[in-house]
Amino acid sequence: MTGTVDVVVVGGGQAGLAAGYFLRRAGLRFVVLDAQDEPGGAWRRGWDSLRLFSPAEHNPLPGWWMPRQEGEPFPTATHVAGYLQDYERRYDLPVRRPVRVRGVHDAGARLAVDTDHGIWHASFVISATGTWDSPILPHYPGAVEFVGEQLHTVDYRSPERFRGRRVVVVGGGNSAAQILAEVSTVATTTWVTRREPRFMPDDVDGRVLFDVATRRDAARRAGTDAESVSALGDIAMVPPVLEARDRGVCRARPMFDRLTRDGVAWDGVAWDDGTEQPCDVIVWCTGFRPALDHLEPLELPLPGGVPKTIGTRSVDEPRLYLLGYGDWTGPASATLIGASRTAKPAVADITERLRVA
Ligand code: FAD
Repeated sequence: MTGTVDVVVVGGGQAGLAAGYFLRRAGLRFVVLDAQDEPGGAWRRGWDSLRLFSPAEHNPLPGWWMPRQEGEPFPTATHVAGYLQDYERRYDLPVRRPVRVRGVHDAGARLAVDTDHGIWHASFVISATGTWDSPILPHYPGAVEFVGEQLHTVDYRSPERFRGRRVVVVGGGNSAAQILAEVSTVATTTWVTRREPRFMPDDVDGRVLFDVATRRDAARRAGTDAESVSALGDIAMVPPVLEARDRGVCRARPMFDRLTRDGVAWDGVAWDDGTEQPCDVIVWCTGFRPALDHLEPLELPLPGGVPKTIGTRSVDEPRLYLLGYGDWTGPASATLIGASRTAKPAVADITERLRVA
């Protein structure tokens, strides 16, 4: 399972597949290497109730729109994963899985992609490994003394196992708000955030985000400024979060200072119920960083924790492109629509460079 190709795509989630579509159309020789056992990328790994923020028709990959899901205005993660599976088949994308890329190396005229199934050589590498393989677990004093359970968003599936327990949910983003909303229906919850949570207006859903991202993309092309999606707030008021807010569970406390044997504690702040909050479980919804370990052999400088890019191309290794990780690889590039918008110019650039080489 090795060979020499024009392009190796690392990662077979939505960003890798969008790249695959344009590579196929350009007639290039390529392979997509994906570490998972089955198609769907991160959509196979979210919690059971995870849904898109917007209807299917607002979340297209290039070429073929996501079909609607019967009876579900906002498709479930399972539906999205099924769409990605069908998408691979429809365009006959050469995805090899499970294949984990261990390292991308400079091998002179080509890049060598070392995997647990042998080495591929390529003129270009597109890295599209997402973030779910790199959860961020902040360190707080007392973490080892705490006798309860600690888990991260990646480990969370459904609320039932927390029934009757005391749960602290940490984090001010969408994952935290959605997990808090459902856990609070079966458990006693405390929500803790580093800064006051910022909710979007009730009537803003993914359709509005889609429109804002579209205007930002147009502004970027025209070289002008446009409003930022985050200016709307961080937390989308999806139905479970709206319902939780109406139940009064969406009031957050500032971040605690340390963990204790039996819970979490604030130094110098006394709540009505004291300075310590006993709990059985802490759910860290503290985000992810780009999964870039496989790029370590290239020894790229990482100002701000990520490689420097112009568009999606690495400045320090111009044969490397990065797709889908977040705004630093293009506006809204960690969304379905954003993945296709950033994959297209990346593949056009590669095609042109192969042509003149
Ligand atoms: P992934 O889907 O993570 O795919 C990366 C793939 O690369 C995985 O299969 C992984 O196994 C593989 N991989 C990793 N490392 C290696 C390696 N070394 N070698 C080989 N393979 C590797 N997006 C939307 O578009 N619309 C929404 O409404 C939306 N709502 C969201 C709501 C929530 C609450 C959350 C948390 C996310 C939401 N997202 C939404 C974002 C979306 O789910 C992810 O950002 C998206 O899955 C990222 O796609 P990707 O292809 O970049 O990465």
